[in-house]
Amino acid sequence: MDYLVYFLTLGCKVNSYETAAIGKLLADEGFRETEDPSQADVYIVNTCAVTGEADRKSRQMVRKARRVAPSAIVVAMGCHTQMCREETDADIVVGTDDRPKLVPLLLEKLKIRASGKTPEDLDAGTRFFEYGSVPYQENTRAIVKVEDGCNNFCSYCIIPYSRGRVRSRSREAIREEIRVMADKGYREFVITGIHLCSFEKELGRDSTALGELLDEVASIPGVERIRLGSLEPSCMTEELIAMLKANTKICPHFHLSLQSGSDSVLSRMNRKYDTVLFRKVTEKLKEAFPNASFTTDMICGFPGESEEEHRESCAFAEEIGFTHIHVFPFSPREGTKAQKMPDQVDGAVKSRRTSELRAISDKMEKARARSFVGSEVEVLVEKTGEDGSWEGYCREYIRVFGKTESPVDPGQIMTVRITETDGFDLIGERTSY
Ligand code: SF4
Repeated sequence: MDYLVYFLTLGCKVNSYETAAIGKLLADEGFRETEDPSQADVYIVNTCAVTGEADRKSRQMVRKARRVAPSAIVVAMGCHTQMCREETDADIVVGTDDRPKLVPLLLEKLKIRASGKTPEDLDAGTRFFEYGSVPYQENTRAIVKVEDGCNNFCSYCIIPYSRGRVRSRSREAIREEIRVMADKGYREFVITGIHLCSFEKELGRDSTALGELLDEVASIPGVERIRLGSLEPSCMTEELIAMLKANTKICPHFHLSLQSGSDSVLSRMNRKYDTVLFRKVTEKLKEAFPNASFTTDMICGFPGESEEEHRESCAFAEEIGFTHIHVFPFSPREGTKAQKMPDQVDGAVKSRRTSELRAISDKMEKARARSFVGSEVEVLVEKTGEDGSWEGYCREYIRVFGKTESPVDPGQIMTVRITETDGFDLIGERTSY
């Protein structure tokens, strides 16, 4: 079999990971990936449903696939199709809980395309879908998914409906994937999930299960750095923080999902923490990791958000001193409680508040970068140029650039003295390997 497959992926890192995972399964069946969609026998759109805008774009991309590759089998998969199967005219539609069916369905469709048969009805799955080892990379950094689904039901979020409840990957499969990637030379592993702190929650475990998993990951030969995906503050117990501190491979960078710095807004969002808890968690993490970077996601213009609540939110963000904030204007998502809430905020107000918070983020990011000048950091080189230039990330997750006389290779870890910043990034000189 020699079919060409083209992928178009929308949304988050988990989606990118899952695209790569499907790509691997198809490669095992003899498919080859093409960069040219018009040549594709199979055109896969991995959709996203995180906002109403993402839904719209997902539909648009499936229509585009039809236009660009009229003879291809068009597959729509992912979060948007999980919720809105009827809204797409793809040939094969799978959501997030029936992905195991995608490859068999596709093979069957290709084999009997002329017979007029339609794919069987799809069942909902409830276990973690095991892809095996996935060749998804960001340069020298490997992303490893360990958990799917969420039980939290934040009022603005569709994920618990679209991806279903928490289910965790087996530790054995996680270790195996990391062993394979470490053997290939990857040194940094980003452990991720839809609600990472819920790892093994369905087995009755608390967040120390994640700490145990990270200890197991750290002991795999070749693993030099471990980063964590988005963490919910309420899961960051003293026990887990102590486990993270004791694990020398953990990078001092924590993406703690804040969403709002106003307690009344957090309550309407049905988040499971308030600013008091959030502050306490960051203090504990700072004690354990004195130079830790904190990044976060925040939403501006949640229904009913007053100017005062917005100002509280901005002030709290400044107090925490995030290295970077991913700021999103609130976008009502069909099927969520927040969509039906009264006092939806006017679009112009949302964009003005978003700009204000982004300006705060930029200011903090620049100040954080300046604070590194004169210090030494450890850089994992990701890219190199023929002129001796290199770039990579330090453990605190800030991009570092530099240039050396002697060659530097991707994957190399070296000590760098920071001499200046170009605003957000760091510029430095290698002091040792
Ligand atoms: S924690 Fe909230 S925002 Fe995050 S996936 Fe679960 S429901 Fe969505």
